[in-house]
Amino acid sequence: MDDGLLVVISGPSGAGKGTICSRLKEEFKDLKVSVSATTRKPREGEEEGISYFFINEEDFIKRINNDEFLEYAKVYGNYYGTPKSEVFRQLEEGNDIILEIDIQGALQVKKNYPKGVFIFILPPSLSELNKRIENRGTDSKEVIMKRMQCAYDELNYAFEYDYVVVNDEVETAVDKIKHIIFAEKNRAVRK
Ligand code: 5GP
Repeated sequence: MDDGLLVVISGPSGAGKGTICSRLKEEFKDLKVSVSATTRKPREGEEEGISYFFINEEDFIKRINNDEFLEYAKVYGNYYGTPKSEVFRQLEEGNDIILEIDIQGALQVKKNYPKGVFIFILPPSLSELNKRIENRGTDSKEVIMKRMQCAYDELNYAFEYDYVVVNDEVETAVDKIKHIIFAEKNRAVRK
């Protein structure tokens, strides 16, 4: 049996990665979604073990030292990481798995697991990105400014990825990613 496909969805904050991943999960019932660990506090409506595994910094660092993460990064002051064992278990069982992670993390996965498929989600424009980050309404002005500056710098990394998908309309972006996954699964020779 072939290993499953590891799909990395990444891009700047506010590009719409989260919404795209939720839609992909609805479309592909068999697609597994990796649940990250984070030291960030839960937001309203987020559930332990579904949105994230919410852990404290001491525990996170212990897990880094035990080499439990496929990748990890500090994003806006909080740690986020992908638990390695679950991802590899799913791939070995032939299941496809999707990771929604930031750019620092995606570049680490590319190094550790180059067979993955790396998709960069691009916002349609910087002004639209600003609007999306502001409309989220959960972040302070300072955090919004930090996120915008960071997003601007991060656009340069698009060329490190296999595919770039512009998210001007969610359904169109999801459709493009569906085609990418379908094509990648039917490659004559896998990477
Ligand atoms: P949020 O706090 O809004 O849920 O996520 C903030 C950023 O962290 C987003 O860009 C999200 O993609 C990223 N992120 C979530 N989980 C992980 C992870 O496991 N690893 C890395 N590197 N980034 C993550």
